[in-house]
Parts: sequence; structure tokens; C-alpha cells
Amino acid sequence: LRENDAVIENQITVCVRKRPLNEKEISRRELDVVSVPTKNQLVVHEPKQKVDLTKYLENQHFRFDYVFDESCTNDLVYKFTARPLVKTIFEGGMATCFAYGQTGSGKTHTMGGEFRGKQQNFKNGIYGLVAQDVFRYLTHPKYAKMNYSVSASFFEIYGKLVFDLLAKKQRLRVLEDGKQQVQVVGLTEKVVNKVDHVFELIQKGSLERTSGQTSANSNSSRSHAVFQIILRRSGSRQIEGKFSLIDLAGNERGADNSKSNRQTRIEGADINKSLLALKECIRALGRKGAHLPFRGSKLTQVLRDSFIGEKSRTCMIALISPGNYSVDHSLNTLRYADRVKEL
Ligand code: ADP
Ligand code: MG
Repeated sequence: LRENDAVIENQITVCVRKRPLNEKEISRRELDVVSVPTKNQLVVHEPKQKVDLTKYLENQHFRFDYVFDESCTNDLVYKFTARPLVKTIFEGGMATCFAYGQTGSGKTHTMGGEFRGKQQNFKNGIYGLVAQDVFRYLTHPKYAKMNYSVSASFFEIYGKLVFDLLAKKQRLRVLEDGKQQVQVVGLTEKVVNKVDHVFELIQKGSLERTSGQTSANSNSSRSHAVFQIILRRSGSRQIEGKFSLIDLAGNERGADNSKSNRQTRIEGADINKSLLALKECIRALGRKGAHLPFRGSKLTQVLRDSFIGEKSRTCMIALISPGNYSVDHSLNTLRYADRVKEL
């Protein structure tokens, strides 16, 4: 992949990123069952057994806009996914980028930044990379004269509840007015004058998200995190452009509901419902006049304005774990990603 390959004309882009086997998987002697033969193809070698117990591999082929193998860095993934969408928000559109996949597949690593032990480098996640490019655009003569003001917000959706990650997880209400305009009431929106401010907010919100181990919503794998960068003309309330970056809840919930307790089952059902609603809303974006079922979940409700308008663009990054124990989850993720785009 070279950088100048990154021309994205589509309203919806769907990409897949495969992470390397981790230490735990290696110690369990898991095999890497995912291969990436070209920059848009991916093959899952699913281990199977015949009735007579002979073992064989079933190869499942997929095609996406881009497929990133385990050698790809966040920087590279960014160049082909969110970066081409930064322009959108300077031209009056809404941009959205989702990270989708099972817990442990690399969503937070991709969106928030690479981990070094417990430390996360917030500058090299998609949140931080978008922020850097937004500030770079602002220095361009064409946009400098527009006198934009930039602000950021960061919140979390857990089931039907919304929490402000920039205000100590304060609970927020979502209201819809008669014109179907959706508002997250009281959501903190911090004006940012330089990119370092944005890094601080990303750090603050990310730590808030994973802190408080005793509260019910502490486990970040069960909630969706939404980070937004908003552009306005100085002195105006009117939003000119908005980039929403979403680290989705793990999609594996609800798959094994036989063993789980009631709370976990409810969580799983909520997550499934929101991911299904999301898929339908993204699909509607690609079809003129399609019904937009945004009321299907809190997630799609708060993102409603991102799914309307001809200038709006969306990118989904599906993350997969390469190990053979994860093959069912990986296939679920790939099929979902496939259907997001298939018309
Ligand atoms: P998720 O948010 O999907 O649950 P994480 O992003 O927390 O998953 O990733 C789980 C672990 O795998 C982390 O320790 C992370 O550093 C590591 N990891 C994820 N993606 C990669 C990658 N592309 N390269 C190296 N390590 C990765
Ligand atoms: Mg995560």
C-alpha cells in the first residue's frame, strides 16, 4: 500500500485490520488462520472436522476496500480510512469512522493509540491523527480565512445510558425535538485552540472510560465511546462540520448467552440491537431515499445527523484477531462488515 493509493470516492468505505497474534495466543499455540493475499482481499482458513474425524481447512474469501495485515501501523491505517474524510468536514459534511470487532481485536489500539504496556500513545490513534490534520487544515489559506472554531466532546453509551467522559461520567439525557433534531443535553464541548489540548482531552476521556472498576459501566468492552471534533464559524452556533470517531462495544456479546448471567444477557441484547441499527443506518446512507431507522438504538439516535446529507461519509474499520480460537468471532465480524456495504 502506498499513500497515494488512498483516494476514497465512496460514501461508505469498509476496511479490515488484522492484528498480530498476541503473547497469550502464542502461549496457547494458536495458529494464525487469517491471510491477506492482496490489499483488498482476506482469507480465513477455518479449521473443520469431517464426520469421520479427518481434519481440513475451509477457506472463506472476503473482499473489502482495504485490508491491513499485521505489519500495518496506525499511521498507515489512518491514511486509508479516516484521513480522506477530514476534507469532508471542511466542506460542509459529516464524517464518521467506526471501529468494530470483538473485545481484544484492536479497536481501542486503532482509535485511541498504540499501547506500550499500560501507557497509550494518544497521538498515534485515529482520534489524535484526525485532530492533527484538522489543525493542519486550519492553517491552509483557503480555510484560515473562514475563521473556524474547533471544539471536542467525548462520551460513552452504555445500553440506554449516556455518560460524559469529559465531566466525570456525568449522566446525560438525549432529547429529540419536533424536527427530529437530536441533542445530548449538557454534553461538555471544549473549545480547543491547539492540538495538544485535544490530546489532553483524549487522554482524560480515555482514562475516565476505563476507570472506576466497581461501577456497572466500567468495562469499556460493553460500551460505545464517541469522540467528536466539531467545526463552527467563530461566533456562530451553527455546526459547519463534525467528525465522529467511535470505538464500538465488543460485538461478541450475546453470542454465548447460555452461560451468562441476566445483566450480561441484557447488555448483550442492547449491544446487538445497536450494532444492527448501525448497520441499517450506514446502509441507508448509501441509498437515495432509504428509510433511516435511527431510533433503533441510542447510538444511531445520537449519530443521526451523521447519516443524513449527501456530503456525509462513513468509514468502518473491522478489527479481527488472527488466532484459531477466535475464528467464529472473526467470521461474524467479516460478515457484518460485508453487509454494511453490500447493496
Ligand atoms: P479492543 O479495544 O478491541 O478490545 P485493544 O485495542 O484493547 O482491543 O487491543 C487488545 C490488545 O491487543 C492490546 O494490548 C493492544 O495493544 C494489542 N493490539 C491490538 N491491535 C494491535 C496491533 N495492530 N498491533 C499490536 N498490538 C495490538
Ligand atoms: Mg477497547
